[in-house]
Amino acid sequence: MKKVNFKYFPFIMIALLTSSAVAQSDEFVQQLWKTYPQFKEESLTQRRIQHQDLQPLIEKYKQQPGFNVHQVGTSIEGRSLNLISIGTGKTNVFLWSQMHGDESTATMAIFDIFNFISSDKFKVEKAALFKNVTLHFLPMLNPDGAEVFQRRNALGIDVNRDALRLQSPEGKTLKRIRDSLAADFGFNLHDQSKYYNAEASANPATISFLAPAYNYEKDVNDVRGNAMKLIVGMNRELQKIIPGQVAKYNDDFEPRAFGDNIQKWGTSTILIESGGFLNDPEKQEIRKLNFMAILSALFSISNQDYKTLDINDYEKIPENDSKLFDLKLTGLQYELLGKTYILDLGINNLEISNGKNEYYYRSQIADQGDLSTNHGYKAMDFAGYKIKPGVIYPEILENSKDLEKLDFSSVLSGGYSYVQVKNIPKDENHTNYPVQIVSADFKIPAQLSVGSNPTFFLEKDGKVEFAVVNGFLMDLKDIDISIKNGLILR
Ligand SMILES: [Zn+2]
Repeated sequence: MKKVNFKYFPFIMIALLTSSAVAQSDEFVQQLWKTYPQFKEESLTQRRIQHQDLQPLIEKYKQQPGFNVHQVGTSIEGRSLNLISIGTGKTNVFLWSQMHGDESTATMAIFDIFNFISSDKFKVEKAALFKNVTLHFLPMLNPDGAEVFQRRNALGIDVNRDALRLQSPEGKTLKRIRDSLAADFGFNLHDQSKYYNAEASANPATISFLAPAYNYEKDVNDVRGNAMKLIVGMNRELQKIIPGQVAKYNDDFEPRAFGDNIQKWGTSTILIESGGFLNDPEKQEIRKLNFMAILSALFSISNQDYKTLDINDYEKIPENDSKLFDLKLTGLQYELLGKTYILDLGINNLEISNGKNEYYYRSQIADQGDLSTNHGYKAMDFAGYKIKPGVIYPEILENSKDLEKLDFSSVLSGGYSYVQVKNIPKDENHTNYPVQIVSADFKIPAQLSVGSNPTFFLEKDGKVEFAVVNGFLMDLKDIDISIKNGLILR
């Protein structure tokens, strides 16, 4: 047996204790992930949530022991801003979401966290948490923007550029609450473009973090350093579930932004940005990632685990990059004025709001040319395939309802992507069919260009094999009629 060198014994003990504490908390965080379905707030199912959707939930927590609910402000259009506080600890943590009205992922996660807190599960862990910390949540800071699912508030300003001028009641409320709590930690919860990827990879930046800078020099003091360490911890947990899909948001100092100022005012501030995730348009998977990451940080603040983490690991998180498309097609042959060229196409399916809780897609060619440094949620190589413009179906239909009678497989295989309809519904802009509906005035675009709607066929050896209609790719051997994303083009 090797003789123990007692000179190093205390250090070995510290190392063992630290690693076992980390291992234990890791296991706990994984438990949170596994048990998430029982905490999911089932009344919130999609991103277009509004102030009225939250009120019954907030009313419920007014009655719940341990929850302190106070109206702390009012939006320009008169909607209530509520602060929900839980705990008795002396460390104050302030979390606010949806300062941008169309960024609701974390708002949904906050109500999942409330269900976790009010459940009878994890009692011992929660008792320890609330002895050490008091949590203060301000969900949906910009309810007027959320009402119409837009970034800006009713004044038409970006609340996140109002930290100094403080013209918006939403921004004033945020500042007043931060100051009155003298919060030790702050969580600034947002959504970012789904087209961000983690630098030098094809992975979407599903979650991006930032410990905002508090000056142009981007200095790191203890306040910012603690935010960085908490991010290191959250990143470590997320990597187990979405390896390579975590990035770091740009850290240029923005003197008008809240995150930067709140860091400056002495609250260790963490920005969490929910980006994109394959096949998760309503961000329900990303919501779950928020639930886990935020809770892991809150427990880490409580047991002070984060202090043992290496701040240098923060710098190792890749930066956000902006190189993703929804669909990337490469190696296409494209004919222009009698000559053939090779083109890659980057296509994005842009969401267009259509009334209260609905949207449809109007796709665009986001870029064309050599796109070898870009990536796609879906990427396919079409070397050897020729782009063939779609044409208009020879039969003119009376009403759009008559499209139901068409066999779309043979329509598309015949090279027809447009169907002319006499009576086009006035206020509608999209259809539930895999073809575009057009009026008599419609002209097929002469060529592909950035910003144009991608609708064409891919032909090999004289045979049409694939269709792209409004940016959605369909294999004509196995046509998926569930793709119902045609537009009405006048
Ligand atoms: Zn935002």
